[in-house]
Parts: sequence; structure tokens; C-alpha cells
Amino acid sequence: MMRTSERNSNGFYSLFYLLLFYKKKMGKVLIIGCGGVGTVVAHKCAQNPDVFEQIVIASRTKSKCDAVAKAIGAPNITTDAVDADSVPQLVELFKKHRPDIVINVALPYQDLTIMDACLECGVNYLDTANYEPRDEAHFEYSWQWAYRERFEKAGLTAILGCGFDPGVTSVYTAYAAKHHFKEIQYLDIVDCNAGNHHKAFATNFNPEINIREITQKGLYWENGKWVETEPLEIHQPLTYPEIGPRESYLLHHEEIESLVLNYPTIKRARFWMTFGQQYLTYLDCIQNLGMSRIDEIEYSAPLADNPDKTVKVKIVPLQFLKAVLPNPQDLGSNYDGQTSIGCRIRGIGNDGKELTYYIYNNCSHEAAYKETGMQGVSYTTGVPAMTGAMMFLKGIWNKPGVHNVEEFDPDPFLDVLNKQGLPWHEIFNCDLEL
Ligand code: NDP
Repeated sequence: MMRTSERNSNGFYSLFYLLLFYKKKMGKVLIIGCGGVGTVVAHKCAQNPDVFEQIVIASRTKSKCDAVAKAIGAPNITTDAVDADSVPQLVELFKKHRPDIVINVALPYQDLTIMDACLECGVNYLDTANYEPRDEAHFEYSWQWAYRERFEKAGLTAILGCGFDPGVTSVYTAYAAKHHFKEIQYLDIVDCNAGNHHKAFATNFNPEINIREITQKGLYWENGKWVETEPLEIHQPLTYPEIGPRESYLLHHEEIESLVLNYPTIKRARFWMTFGQQYLTYLDCIQNLGMSRIDEIEYSAPLADNPDKTVKVKIVPLQFLKAVLPNPQDLGSNYDGQTSIGCRIRGIGNDGKELTYYIYNNCSHEAAYKETGMQGVSYTTGVPAMTGAMMFLKGIWNKPGVHNVEEFDPDPFLDVLNKQGLPWHEIFNCDLEL
């Protein structure tokens, strides 16, 4: 049995949210980072001026913010420059603009400095990726969860992981737990990008972050403990709606860490992502050539005014590679196909019987580009980030402390996603293949 989210809206909730929405709340948002995701966030905030009264886009390169503001052309957008690695610069920015909430769509390296500045200036916080130290390809929530007490005492809300995955996948899980399951036992998050950007090799979001993530060891949760695998060791074909079978690889992904804590009945939780053979061949070469290294190497660079002489400079090979790879922001114009991301869940349904359930969204790269000038991966991340900030400003997701998205009510968030370009669908009692 399949049904779409449009038919899901139950009358009571619709009336409830209508009343909440009627009690209009507005606010000022500061978007930090103006890459692919930041551009989508800015477009979507501008489309909702009843909530986002004023929008500030700030990033390391101000000219990029200016270009996005110009393309949107809304009167309520201003731009600024900031190095988000510097708490004093952030504090100055926050004091100048006095935002109600910051949407952090810079890089995971900046999460903690931005959270520090939020605490210093009394600003609420939202991000889409958990903190990662620059010198170690390792991500986990412990660094950001350590801020819980300070945010709670300051009466500030921090919403962690509010993109698609992490983000919508965790909200899907919360929705399944709230409406359909007595007990969630098996959770598989499945992420397929069946799009084609017509480049030999490119990543769909920041290449440095993307390659660090994919080349890590795999990790999943089973029977109360973490099981480690070699990178991309476990894989199998999975069938995606409107797409068909695609080889899918088990990866470590951050939302599993909070979901198994928030849903302790989960016996096994895994994350799968599709990769084409060509992508994997290139990735293999990049690794074998040492270009995915994140340690500094010394390089003798010729002097600009005297090429016969050299100067020793330190470079990080992966950062150099990022500089020569296609910019994910430029992929959109020639991108076709769609993404399909969702949760496949097995457990005990509300009637006490075993239930299998699949909730997902398919997003067209072409439609995303038409609307925002960015491809589907930036779109599926930016729309939920805007939606989370909207939930906060409307007072629906306002809970002092540091929280992962599944800790909030999923219903109003999913209602908004339907209207903002990411409709979702449910299939009951289906073959999950896993
Ligand atoms: P991009 O590389 O396209 O953009 C990053 C932006 O951050 C750039 O504008 C960059 O500025 C800016 N930036 C980097 N460092 C600093 C700094 N020190 N101070 C100020 N600005 C800085 O990345 P994406 O837009 O693709 O990704 C953004 C975030 O979204 C990443 O954290 C990524 O992990 C996350 N993401 C989350 C997903 C999810 O589903 N949850 C999926 C995809 C991405 P400049 O242009 O000057 O370099």
C-alpha cells in the first residue's frame, strides 16, 4: 500500500498548525556560508518573507553573497564578510546584525566557533553537519553535545543536523515512531543519487568534506554495539522508486549516532549510499595517488616574479584537489535525473503485528536548478535547513539546549516540506530488501 504525504494531513493537526501559523512570528536569520547549500537556503528564506523578515548572508568571500543576493533580488537581504573560524569576528558580526537564529551552512570545521559566538551573543543555532576537526577525518556528536548545558542555561536552542541526511531522515524516523510503530527494530537509511552531471568526476557537495566522509571506515549499529567495516566493504543493489536498482554501499553516517540513543528499541541501524562504478574508480585513483591525504606536505612553488626560484609552501593534497575539481555549485545547469532518499523501517506496528515501512522523497535535479540555480543535493539540504529555522522562528521547535532534529515534533516540519518542494511518500508492508 502506498500513499503520499498530501493525503496524510490529518484535520486536527492542520487546524492546530493553522492557529499557530495565524499567530505569526517573524525574525531575522543570518546564513553563514554561501556555497551550494547556502544559496538554496537564501532562496528559500526569501520565498518566505512572512517568517524571514530580514536575511543576512555572510561568508568568507563576500562577492559570492552579493551575487546570490542580486540573483534573488529581494529587498530584505543584506550581505557581509566573516571568517567563521574566528570567534571575535563572528561576535562582531552577530552584534552588528542581531539575528534571532544562525543557519550554519559553512563547513563542519566551523560548528564550534559559531556555537561559541552564539552563546556569547545570545543567538540560536542550526546546522546541517556535525563538527569535524580539520586534522582528523572523524565526525561525531560528542563535541557539540558538550554544549547542551550552556545552551540550556542561556535559554538558547541549537538544532543539529537539519539537512536531508542528517535531517529529514531523522524526522522521517521520528514520524514513523510517532504514528506507525510501537517499536522500531531495524532502520536502514538509503540515499540514492541517480542524477548525471555529465562530468568525469565531481562531488555533489564540498569535495573536501565529501571525500573525507566516503573514504572513512564504515560503521553501523547492531545489538547494542558499533560494528566497523573497511571503507565501502559492504554493498548490495537496492531498488529505488522511479529509478530502479542501484549498487548501494554501507557508510558511517552521523544521524545513526543520535537515532540509536533516541530510539533504544533499534536493534540494527545502517546507512547506505549509491555510487556509480566510474566514481569509485576515480576515487580509488585519487586515494592511490595520495590526493585524498589531509596532512600537510611541503611543495616547492616557483616564485611568481622569478619562476627560476622556488619557495617552500605547505599544502594539504585534498584541499589542493578541491581547488581543481568542478565546483558543486556549477553542476546544476547540466544535471539531469533525480535523488531518492528515505528510511526503510521494520518493527512492531501499532496493532502489535510486524510492519515494514518505507518513507522517502525523490527530488529532480532539473527542477531544483530551475528554482534556485543549484542541483538537487544542495536543494535537498537547503530546504530542510530553511524549514528547521522556520520551525524555530514560529516557536514550534523552540527548546533550550542542543538537540538533534528527531527530538522535535516531526508533523509541522513535514507539512512544510510538502509545500516547499520536498514532498514525501509512504509505502506500507513492502519488501525492504534489507
Ligand atoms: P560549499 O563548499 O559549496 O560551501 C561552503 C561555504 O562555506 C562557502 O561559501 C565557503 O566560502 C564558506 N566557508 C568555508 N569556510 C569558511 C569560513 N572559515 N568562514 C566563512 N565561510 C566559510 O559547501 P556546500 O554548500 O556543498 O555544503 C555546506 C555544508 O552543508 C557542509 O557543511 C556540508 O557538509 C553540509 N551538507 C549537509 C548535507 C545534509 O544532508 N545534511 C548534504 C550536503 C552538504 P568560500 O566560498 O570563500 O570558500
